Amino acid sequence: MTTQPLQPLLHPNHPNRVELDELAARAISIVTEPPGPRAQEMIARALPHLSPSLIHCYPLMVKRASGCMVEDVDGNIYLDAEAGVATASTGHCHPAVADAIAAQSQVLIHICGTDFHYPGYGAMCEKLGALVQHIGPNSHHWQTFLTNSGTEAVEAAIKLSRHHTGRSNLIAFRGGFHGRTLGALSLTASKSKYRRRFGPLLPGAFHATYGDAASVEELFTTVTAPDDVAAIVVEPVLGEGGYVVPAPEFLRKLREICDRHGIMLVFDEVQSGMGRTGKMFAAEHTGVVPDIVLAAKGIASGMPLGAMIAKKEIMTWPAGSHGSTIAGNPVAIAAGLATIELLEKELVANSARVGDALKAALKQKLARETIVTDIRGVGLMIGVELATPELAGAVANLCFKRGLLLLECGKKAIRFSPPLIITDAQANAAADVFVAACRDARESVARKA
Ligand code: PLP
Repeated sequence: MTTQPLQPLLHPNHPNRVELDELAARAISIVTEPPGPRAQEMIARALPHLSPSLIHCYPLMVKRASGCMVEDVDGNIYLDAEAGVATASTGHCHPAVADAIAAQSQVLIHICGTDFHYPGYGAMCEKLGALVQHIGPNSHHWQTFLTNSGTEAVEAAIKLSRHHTGRSNLIAFRGGFHGRTLGALSLTASKSKYRRRFGPLLPGAFHATYGDAASVEELFTTVTAPDDVAAIVVEPVLGEGGYVVPAPEFLRKLREICDRHGIMLVFDEVQSGMGRTGKMFAAEHTGVVPDIVLAAKGIASGMPLGAMIAKKEIMTWPAGSHGSTIAGNPVAIAAGLATIELLEKELVANSARVGDALKAALKQKLARETIVTDIRGVGLMIGVELATPELAGAVANLCFKRGLLLLECGKKAIRFSPPLIITDAQANAAADVFVAACRDARESVARKA
């Protein structure tokens, strides 16, 4: 099934487009120490109306963003090395994505993919099936259920695995993050604050040690017989839990265990997928083919879209057993198809190339920095471990003040997950700001001691 090409509506000479292109070409520029007066005022006004469960790592009030650059309401310009939590894969407001959204929204915004057909839904599912085909030796036919988010893709995988196997138990890993709805939360085990006071969660969800397949076999002898287990759910590269790349044998052994016991192997590629690691899916680094692949985040450059892609022989649930009113919305799909075209054309390759260069630059520039204890990762999924959680928080905050947007992960690491369009020059600039922030954090600790 193919989509009709839609006419771009945002002309290249449109004043908004010209301004956005200028912003994308800017360097970091801090004109008022953030948060500036407008940001402070707007945040103070907003906060009383917001759920206090929102995190707000630092007081950033965004006015607009383009490419890798973000402008706040006080005119400060930041380099975004976190991409809205690894999601703005093609950069902010990529013209091809913005045009696809604008064009689709003039034709069909919603009709409900669970109940009716439209061309984009089929095109997206066909495309995702073809992409998953590249993971490894793979002659399967894949079918896709589209979702609004990563956590919904996890929920779909839990339900399909249970439905298909007729078993109820689930195995995930300590350090893993799979979302916050109650099913997905039963698998999430990266921080206890996500689970506190929300129990009881799903019964029969057990956790093994990430990177250690033998610890799964240990669960079989202690807490759950393997023939009670519907699925093993794993991130091929640990995301929120610290940007940890496991040894390749880990995924291979999980595949063997699942084959031996008729368990579904689910790769949660919500963070590691869509080119983030320098391959379309992180699983391609090992060639291990799972039964179910989950994607979201970078799949549509920030529009709400996720996917559960499963082998056809597993998709045995009947009509009506799962669905969603808005999931696979035509506008989100238009953004997704435009995003995937850009990823395939050049951005997956850019992720691999600039990712290698950025990791090498960080290693070289931080070689003598005593507060940095590890630099790891693959593609543009790079984690820098600090000596303490306080130092990680201080460095992230100092980077913000200097115009570099980063997020923490794990117990005491900082993640670099920039848009996949990042240039060598921007990656170098990010590394330089980060090095200076580490130096300042170290000196500040020394002064206090
Ligand atoms: N799975 C992984 C690996 C994730 O990193 C995340 C979000 O960070 C999720 C699932 C949940 O995705 P969402 O926040 O889109 O629901």
